[in-house]
Amino acid sequence: MCKILSIQCSKNIKLINRGMGKEMINKKKIKISGCLAGKILWVDLTNKKIWTERSEMYAEKTLGGRGINSLIMLEKTNNNVKWYDPENLLCFGVGSLVGTMAPGACRVDISTINVFNGGKGSANVGGFWGPELKYAGYDHLIIVGKSEKPVYLNIHNGTVEIRDASRLWGKDVFETENLLRKIIGDENIKIASIGPAGENRVKGSAIMIDTAKAAGGSGVGCVMGDKKLKAVAVRGHGKIEVSEPKRFMSIVQKCYQKCMENPAKEMMRKAPLNLYSNPEWEGWNTNIVTKNGQDDQWEYEKRIKLMNPQNGIPSMQKGVRACYMCPTGCMPVMEINRGKYQGTKGEGFWINTIMGHACRFDISDPEAVVESWILTNKLGLDGDYVASGLSWVFELYEKGLITKEDTDGLELDWGNSQSLIAMIKKLAYREGIGDLLADGIIEAARRIGHDTEYYHIQVKGQPSIEPFRVPKGWALAVSTSPVAGRHLRGATMGSKRYGSKPRPGDFNVIDYQNQAQGVVWQGKTKELEDNLGICNYVGTWSGANFLDITDFVELINSGMGIDLSEEDLMEHYAPLGRNMEKAFNSLHTPMSRNDDMPPKRFMDEGVQSGPYKGHRIDKNKFNHMLDEFYRLWGWDVQTGMQTRTGLTNLGLEEIAGKLAKQGKLIEK
Ligand code: SF4
Repeated sequence: MCKILSIQCSKNIKLINRGMGKEMINKKKIKISGCLAGKILWVDLTNKKIWTERSEMYAEKTLGGRGINSLIMLEKTNNNVKWYDPENLLCFGVGSLVGTMAPGACRVDISTINVFNGGKGSANVGGFWGPELKYAGYDHLIIVGKSEKPVYLNIHNGTVEIRDASRLWGKDVFETENLLRKIIGDENIKIASIGPAGENRVKGSAIMIDTAKAAGGSGVGCVMGDKKLKAVAVRGHGKIEVSEPKRFMSIVQKCYQKCMENPAKEMMRKAPLNLYSNPEWEGWNTNIVTKNGQDDQWEYEKRIKLMNPQNGIPSMQKGVRACYMCPTGCMPVMEINRGKYQGTKGEGFWINTIMGHACRFDISDPEAVVESWILTNKLGLDGDYVASGLSWVFELYEKGLITKEDTDGLELDWGNSQSLIAMIKKLAYREGIGDLLADGIIEAARRIGHDTEYYHIQVKGQPSIEPFRVPKGWALAVSTSPVAGRHLRGATMGSKRYGSKPRPGDFNVIDYQNQAQGVVWQGKTKELEDNLGICNYVGTWSGANFLDITDFVELINSGMGIDLSEEDLMEHYAPLGRNMEKAFNSLHTPMSRNDDMPPKRFMDEGVQSGPYKGHRIDKNKFNHMLDEFYRLWGWDVQTGMQTRTGLTNLGLEEIAGKLAKQGKLIEK
C-alpha cells in the first residue's frame, strides 16, 4: 500500500539549518521574476517527511541549477558527514532556464558527497526528467535520510508520495522504467532510476534518466542505492513563465537560427560515429588511450574494423534522438542486427564508448562494443568507471599480478570481449572479483598489493578514462576538476574551432603555452551552463560553440527579469560556483596541490607509437600551467588554496572563516 503524504514541514532533521547564511550576498542584488518553478522539494526518507521551501532566494545568489546544489551542500553538510551517512544530501538541481524554450535547456545537476574522496560530487544529465520536474512545480529535489526498505518517489504535480519499491528492486534500468510506467498507469512519466549496480552500492554507479542518459560521475547512483531509493517518477502539467515573453522568444529564435547555421550541427548529429569512421581523424591521435594507458595509439586496421560504415558500429545506428529543446540531437539509437548479440537495442553511443569500451580493452568487435555499452546502461553502471576500473584488472592479468584463480576463471586477455561482458555483470552484482572492484579501485589495489595502484588511472580517487599525455590543456582540466578526473570542467581541444567568437588562449593542443587561459574560460562557461541547465554541447563546448555568453546574458535577462552583464556572469557567478565546490573539497577532504596533478603513469611513461610517440606530461611544465591556472582563478599560486580576499569578494566571508579555522585559507 502506498502512503500519500501531503507536503509538510519537518523539524526532525538535525542537519537542516534553515535559512541562508549571511555571507552569500551578491554585490549586485537581483530579483528574479521568471523561469523558476519557485519551490525546492525536500524529502526525508528516514522520517518519511516531505516539505518545500522557496527557491528564488537561492537562485538570486547563484543563478540556479548546480549553483543552488553547491550552496545548499556547503551550508548544510557538517564536517564529519560521509557519503553513506543519512545526513548526506542527494540534490537534483534543474537549471534555471529548463522548462522554457531556450535551446538545449534540459540539464539537471545531481550533487552529493563524492563516494571516491568525500569531497563535492556532481554529475550532469539531460533528457526530459528536468523539465518535467519543473512542470510539476519544483526547481530542485533534495533527498535526505535513508529508507529502511526500498522505495520510489511518485511526484505528480503537487502530490508527492513515498511508495514501496519491492516490486522494482532487483530489476535493471530498462525493466524498472517499463514496470513503473505500468504500475503508475502513465506512459508519459519521466523516470530517474538506479539499476542493480546502485542497489548493490557499487561505487561506480550511475543514476539513469530516460534509460540511456547517465548521471555517471562521483558515484551518485551508489548514494541513491544506499538511501534505498530505486526511482523518482515525475509528471507535471504546469508551465514555466518567462518575464518578458516577446523579447525572450525573439532571442530564442535568434539562438536557434544560430545553431542551425553552425557548421558543427551535422557533426554533432552524427558524432562520434562519423568522426571516428574516418581512420585518419585527428581524434584517433589525440583523444584515445589504449590498453589501460599503455599507449595513446590504436592500430589502423582495428579502427577500420570497429568503425567502418558497412559492417562496423555505424551500420548499427538506426536513428538519432535529442533531449528536450535540443536543436542538434547527438544520441544515436543503436540496434545490433546480427551475430550473437542480435536484438540488443539501446540509445546513446559516445566518444567515451569508443575510448572506454573499445581501445581501452583492445576490442575491435563492433557488436561486442555496442553490447557492453548498452549492458552498462541497463545495469546502471557509470561507463567511465567500467572502462577505467576493468581495464586496470585486464592489465594486472597481463602482467601476472593476478591469475585466473583471482578472476573466477575468466581469461582477461586484451581483446577478449566475452570476458569484459562477464566482468561488467560481476561488477554490478558484486559477484566474485566484482565484489572486490565494487568498493573502488584504490581499495581493490590496497587489498591486492604489489604496487598495483600505479596502474590505476585515477584523479582524486576517481577512475578516469581521459587522455592526458597528448592534449596538455585537457590534462590540466581533468586533473583540476573539483569533481575528479572528468573532462567537462574546462577541458578544451582548441581555441579556434567552430563558433562565432574566438576563445581566449590561442594554443596548440599538444603544447603547454596559453592552455590555462582556455581551460579557465571553458571552466567558467561550464559553471554558467550548469546553473542555467544548458547542455554544454549546445553551449560553449570547444567542438561546437553554438551559443556563447552574450546569448546566455540575453536569455536570462529577458527570461528571468534581471539585468546582468557578461562580466557579472564571468566574474561573479562563474567563480562563485567554482569556489563553492573548491571550498567544499577543502573543508571535507585533505586535498592539496598534489591532488591537482595528473596520474603519475602519464608523467613517467611516454606514448609508445604514432605521431606523438614519446609525449608524456613534463612535471615542470605542467606545474607552470597549474600556477597560471591558480592565478587566473584568484587562488594562491604556491599552494592552490583560496584566499580571504578572493572569497570575500564573492560574498563568501563565512566560508573563509571556516577554512581559516582548518588552516586552509591564505590570509591575503
Ligand atoms: S547535444 Fe546531445 S546531450 Fe546535449 S541536449 Fe542535445 S541531445 Fe542532449
